[in-house]
Amino acid sequence: MASAQRITVLTGAGISTDSGIPDFRGPQGLWTRNPGAERMATIDHYLADPEVRRASWQNRLSSPAWIARPNPGHRALVDLERQGRLRAIITQNIDELHQAAGSDPSLVLELHGTMRWVVCWDCGARGPMDAVLERVKAGEEDPRCVECGGVLKSATISFGQMLDPAVLAAAEDAAVDCDLLLAIGSTLTVYPAAGLVPLSKQAGARLIIVNAQPTPFDGIADSVVDGSISDVLPSLVATSGPDGRPRSRADDPA
Ligand code: NAD
Ligand code: ZN
Repeated sequence: MASAQRITVLTGAGISTDSGIPDFRGPQGLWTRNPGAERMATIDHYLADPEVRRASWQNRLSSPAWIARPNPGHRALVDLERQGRLRAIITQNIDELHQAAGSDPSLVLELHGTMRWVVCWDCGARGPMDAVLERVKAGEEDPRCVECGGVLKSATISFGQMLDPAVLAAAEDAAVDCDLLLAIGSTLTVYPAAGLVPLSKQAGARLIIVNAQPTPFDGIADSVVDGSISDVLPSLVATSGPDGRPRSRADDPA
């Protein structure tokens, strides 16, 4: 970590759990507790079944993400950027907490889109999520596009949906063009995101994984850090930076 000059970070839902947003596959994950929910998260179900859309709008309305604030894990990546060593943050998260923490938005690549925008499946019109949630609160159970009457969906990538090719290409560039890939808070089982890990490794980067559970790539990692992200990441970034030094007991106030 200390010798790395160009660091690409890949984040997953685990960096946001300490902000109050549950992950999907961790021990308390939404899909670990309710496996049926994963099947409902496919684009085909969403488009075909008004009942799925009604449930989705209710889920969006009650999402803990609307009041979530960035935690020390997100803020540590802002410090990494200030150290001048951050190439990009590739995130699978849709919560925009990296940007809220102060990361340069042009360095944040949202592989799975954002929950703060809505897109019309039929005409492609985009608009802010807030406005549509107000309509849901006012009683519209399955709000339609005001331009064309088409199906509205959050601007996120569901299963069965293609990633934005430009965002994926930028993520692949960042995975290849770095000397360290730092994979944080992801089970590394969702593709194509997980495929960035071997891609980066094959291009010669070192790999550090920070995650509370094992991942399929632990075996090719140069280091695996098992611990709470909001504890581990700030000290990892601080002690490896230009004026970093390993903390000793002497640093702690008496
Ligand atoms: P995941 O739920 O599959 O895995 C999260 C991993 O992080 C688990 O292995 C878990 O053990 C670990 N983890 C959770 N909290 C941790 C902590 N505080 N410290 C250390 N490790 C911790 O998440 P994924 O791999 O990102 O895939 C889930 C998909 O769901 C993504 O594609 C993402 O788009 C979406 N998602 C996003 C959010 C969000 O935006 N915050 C939340 C849930 C799901
Ligand atoms: Zn439309």
